[in-house]
This record gives sequence, C-alpha cells and structure tokens, in this order.
Amino acid sequence: MPTDSPAPTPLAAIPGIGPQRAELLSKLGLLTHDDLLHFVPRRYEDRRHLKPISAAQEGQAITVRGKIHHLKAVHWGSLRLEITVAPQTLENREDIVIARWYGFRPYGIKESGDIFLFARIDRDKKGRWVMNNPDYEIAHDDAESYIHIDRIAPIYNLTEGLTQRVLRRIMFEATQKTAFSAPEFYPAPERMMARQEAFRVIHFPESFPAEERARQRLAYDEFFVLQCVVAQRRASRVQLHRQRPVAIGDARTLSARWLESLPYSLTNAQRRVMSEIDADLSHGPPMNRLLQGDVGSGKTFVAVYAMLRAVEAGEQAALMAPTQILAEQHALNLRRWLEPLGVRVDLFTGNTKAKGKKTDRLQGGELDLFTFKNGPPDGSPRSPSAGPSVPSAGGRRLPPTGSVVVGTHALLYDRYAAEKLGLIVIDEQHKFGVLQRLALSRKGQNPDILVMTATPIPRTLGMTVYGDLDVSVLDELPPGRQPIMTKRRSSKELDKFWAFLLKQIGEGRQAYVIYPLVEESEKVDAKSVKAEFERLKEHLPQAKLGLLHGQLDGAEKERVMTAFRAGEIEVLLSTSVIEVGVDVPNATVMLIENAERFGLAQLHQLRGRIGRGEHPSYCVLAGEPKSLEGWRRLKIMEETTDGFRIAEEDFKIRGPGNIFGTEQSGLPPLRFASLETDYELLTLARNDAAGFIKQDPTLASWPGLLEKMKEGGVAAVSLVTVS
Ligand code: ADP
Ligand code: MG
Repeated sequence: MPTDSPAPTPLAAIPGIGPQRAELLSKLGLLTHDDLLHFVPRRYEDRRHLKPISAAQEGQAITVRGKIHHLKAVHWGSLRLEITVAPQTLENREDIVIARWYGFRPYGIKESGDIFLFARIDRDKKGRWVMNNPDYEIAHDDAESYIHIDRIAPIYNLTEGLTQRVLRRIMFEATQKTAFSAPEFYPAPERMMARQEAFRVIHFPESFPAEERARQRLAYDEFFVLQCVVAQRRASRVQLHRQRPVAIGDARTLSARWLESLPYSLTNAQRRVMSEIDADLSHGPPMNRLLQGDVGSGKTFVAVYAMLRAVEAGEQAALMAPTQILAEQHALNLRRWLEPLGVRVDLFTGNTKAKGKKTDRLQGGELDLFTFKNGPPDGSPRSPSAGPSVPSAGGRRLPPTGSVVVGTHALLYDRYAAEKLGLIVIDEQHKFGVLQRLALSRKGQNPDILVMTATPIPRTLGMTVYGDLDVSVLDELPPGRQPIMTKRRSSKELDKFWAFLLKQIGEGRQAYVIYPLVEESEKVDAKSVKAEFERLKEHLPQAKLGLLHGQLDGAEKERVMTAFRAGEIEVLLSTSVIEVGVDVPNATVMLIENAERFGLAQLHQLRGRIGRGEHPSYCVLAGEPKSLEGWRRLKIMEETTDGFRIAEEDFKIRGPGNIFGTEQSGLPPLRFASLETDYELLTLARNDAAGFIKQDPTLASWPGLLEKMKEGGVAAVSLVTVS
C-alpha cells in the first residue's frame, strides 16, 4: 500500500509497463509515475447500473453492454463496419442496437464477443436503435474484470495501439497498487480529502460524490499554487517605491482646470474611480489598476484625469490604443482638451500606412497588432504623424516634460523613449497581448499603470490572470442615454431597414453598416465592404456613403473618420476596424451584415458604437446562423445590452482559454480546476495563499517562492499577468 517516498517512481517500476508500452505512453506525454497521476480521465462510465437498451431515450448518450451478434463490413463511400449488439437473447427487437463505424475498423471485434458501447443513441429510418462511431471496449470476464466492470470505470484519452482496457489496467496499477507519494505543499483545509487519496479516487472513484471531492482537493492545490504566484507579484510590487518629481497632492492645477472645462458633470462612478486613482498615486508603490467599464461608460475621462495628474506631477503620460483609428480619435480629443491648458499632445502611431493583411482578420478582432520583436512593418523610423516637431537625439524621440503621448503599439518600439514616463494608460487592453503590455510597462521606471477594458473580466479570471491588479469599475452610464433596440433579421428582409435608415438620416442621424470581409472571397460566403459599397451607391443614391477598412492607408482612414465625425458621411460602411473605442454620438443606427460571423464580445463592442448620445439607437443583426450556438449569440444580443451578462455568456460558450487565449492570458493549463465553476474554491485558495506568502518574507520574491515550491514538490508554474 502507498507510502510516502520522495523519489519519483519511474514508469518501468509499474507492473505491466514494458519498453513498448512506455513508448506508447510517452506519446500521451506520460513519462513518469507523477504524469500518470495527473492524467485525468476524460469521462467515467457508470458500469454498476447499466440500463437495458430498451430503456434508452433517443438522442441520449449512454453506455450499453451487449453481445456482438452480427458483424458486417460494408463499403459505402468509405469503410463502414456494422455490428448488431444485443443482450444474451434476441427476444426483443428493442434490445438490439446497430453500431456503425465509418472510415475505420475497430480493433478486436469478434462475433459473439461481449462489448461496451458508448455514444449518442438514435433511431434510423427503419426505427432501429443505432450508434454512430461509438466508443467501444471489449468486455472480458476474467480475473481482472473487477478493474473494468461493475464499477465506475474511468475512460482515458488514447493513442493508437493502446486500448482503454490496457491503459485502465496500467492506471489501476499506478494508482491503486503501486506505492506513490503526493507531498502536500500546503495543508489544505481539514475537511478536504488528503492529496494522495484524491489521486486514487479521481481515477477509480467509488461514487460520483467521492470523485467530486477528490477533484476539489486537486483543484484547490492547483489554485493554491497559482494564487501563490499572484500573491508574490502583488507583494513584490508593494515593496517598490515611486519617486514622483512633485508630490502628487500638491499640484492640482491641470486636472482641476480640465474638469471645470468639461460641459458635463461626472457620473458618480467616474468620481469614485478618480478618487481611487488619487489614492493609488499618493502611495509609494506604483499604481497597477484595471478599469472595467462597459462600452460608453466614459472611461476616457478617467484616463485623461489620471494623465493630467501625472503631468502636473512633472511627468509624462502615455495612452496606448489598439487601433490607429482609436489613437487618432484620442489624440483629437486630447488636443482639444489639453492644448488650451498648455499640455502638448503627440500622436505616435508608426503605422500610418497599414499594409493590409493583419488589419481585417475575419473573426479574430486583433487589429493592427504585431509582436514588438518584429518592429514596424517597413522597419524605418517614423516621425509622429502630427503635432509640433520634437527634438530628437540620435533618432530617439525625447518628448519634453509635461507632455502626453498617444499612440498605438508603435509606442512599444524603442524609438519612443520616454525619459520621464510616469503613467501608462492602456485602452481596450484585451486587444493587446500580454507581452506588449509588459514591454510598455518596462519603459520608464516603475511607471503607474492603468489598463482599461470594456470586456468585463469574469471574476475568476479577475482573481487569476488579473489577480495582482486593483480593480475599479464604472458601473454607471452617463445620464440621458437611450436604450439600443436590437433585432435580428434575415438578410432578405432588409428593405424595410434601408427605408428606416434613410428616415433616420433625414432626421440628421448617422449610421454604420458592418461587414465581415474587405473583399469578396470565393472561399467565404459572406458580404464584403467593397462590393457592398458599390452596390449601395446605386441602391441608396440619396445617402452620402463612406468606406472604411483596414487596407486603406492611414491618411485615408483618417480622412474618412474626420468626414464621418463632421457629418459629411452619413452612412459609414466598415469592417470591424471600428470595433473598439470609436465615439460618434450622433450615429444611432447600425446594421451588422453576416452577424453570425462575429463573436459575442465583438458584436457587443461593435454595437457599442451606437447608443452613445441623446437619441435612441437601433441595431439590426442580419444573418442566418448555421449552428445552435450562433442562434444563441444573436438571441443574447437581442435580449440584453448588459456587457457583464454578455461576457458571462461568452465565457460559457467559449471558455477562458479562447477568450483570453492560454498564451495570451499566460495562464497555465488547469487539469482539475475550472475557472467557469470553481469560484468558491478559488476564493478559498486565494485567501490561504495570501496568508501563506505573508507569513514568510522570503516568499515575496520570485526566487524565494520558487525554492519553496521545489522543496514542496510543486512543478513551477508560469503565470504572466498584466503588470
Ligand atoms: P468608453 O468607456 O466606451 O471609452 P467614452 O469615454 O468614449 O466611453 O465615452 C462615451 C461618450 O460619453 C463620449 O461621447 C463622452 O464624451 C461621453 N461622456 C463621458 N462621460 C460623460 C459624463 N459624465 N456625462 C455625459 N457624457 C459623458
Ligand atoms: Mg473607450
């Protein structure tokens, strides 16, 4: 029986694993005994209470056990194997299921053999039960059958040459018979299952509640390690100290004057967040704050306020936006607001001539982003595209004290070297990769950082990937906003829409029409902005149309946006380049063509371009989704404009990995824990980890924590967070 022995057991020590099997296991990434412990079953089959086939329900995924009655290989397009499985007798036709495999021949199937099948069960045209491409396992009544039969049997991922039965026997040896150690890095709460026990149970549970308890224990450990890293980051940041040229409390000359100059009064939420920022700036450690606020909640004001606080403290501030269009809009506003106050605003996009390709990816929505290693597209240094000329030293731009720089990712390249960079604001941060954020924060000396996003971060991610940031929320929209009415329409019923659009234009409003493609494509059945622009010019001669997409060069993009802002363009036909940040409050109508091609978060962002002013807004989603999930997305869009609800739904549909991308988020893969469902467990682990790091000052440094983890038998995790 298991004992605590420190050395990792090699696979060869486990009975039943010879060189050949070890080779197969290595294909699954299983090299050590510890790897086996962590190889979680894909699912379980409850073979204690198998139901007869006749009790099945159509469309249900079930396990059946039967005897192979008839075996028939049929060629029909591809190889198709058909077997008839029935219990010992064939009395009842309802007890027969036909299992079919297309394209491959299942191994080891013999007539009159006993077999387990697992799949969705359906009826064919003749009313017979059928299973297509079922998971199968040959059943043997032999000495080892207790491992496989009459129990909850684990089902693992396989590789060619390895059967469920063989792998299960190996796992049984490894987890139930061979001694192994599972050191406890940290004593989990008493009520939890011991770690070693949890490994045994997760592979061969006696019951499903026991399996869940085992999973919880292992998930807790996973979260605990992750949270140690987060707590360490936070602790090490708190030890940093920011030297500010002017004590921040003393000078309010600029920020106060700017606030007075605004035609609006701030929302309570804006006021609250500004004072949270004030508090950060008056402490020693650098600010590291995430500002979350739905589209249109007024994040820009907060950003400007923070930047002015830096400037009045004698430092520079930088604002980074993910697209050129957005950077230009910010520069425009900032110049309008700040130049009267004597603060210079430089625009630094370095990408005035977009080379196309990357800017209009169909679904990805990552615009204009390069990794900072690659440098700008044409490799040549660029001067800022507007603004007063700036002294340069050896090709390096040195913006003078007291200035604000607005830019795209071009800010990351070395040529932008801010000598006194005190504050960095990253707008629409979810559009940047982790590395890009890190690169910008390395400019300056421990600058204050404010990252802003309209994508609400599900709370579990907030506690992990963004776990070392302080979070502020703008949970209030500026007053006087009108709701956005959203409707899905088939693209054939758009005639009424065009009439409505003309009426709105007649009343002085403006509109967006969004397309998934720049140009028509043979491969993709979707509308393109260029083709539709030509078509609509004929169809709507009375409207002034504009065309915008990522393949236009920077100057042309700017010209189009300026004309749209000025009202000279009434209907802007665009790709998703306007997805984030664009603010033209007079635009109240949006049509999204082929809406089924956009993700939920992207639809929400796009729609966020309207409903920003005093007039009611209307959004039409045109398209016929081909999947249930596609319908669900559009339905959610019709039902709500609440960004938080939309984000949670998106999270459920796509999972954290896809929203934030595992490399993107820097999150290590989680085997046992789930960010979707284990909120309470995560909170528990977080509190425990914070206490753990606090009680030992050496753990506030990364080497210190790493050493401790090694001692505790924990494989190091890498976690890239936003800071
Ligand atoms: P987002 O949070 O999406 O970045 P913006 O900062 O672009 O939102 O603000 C959206 C619109 O609301 C802008 O036109 C802005 O001028 C306006 N706005 C922001 N704050 C207020 C306020 N307190 N009162 C009225 N309008 C506001
Ligand atoms: Mg914004």
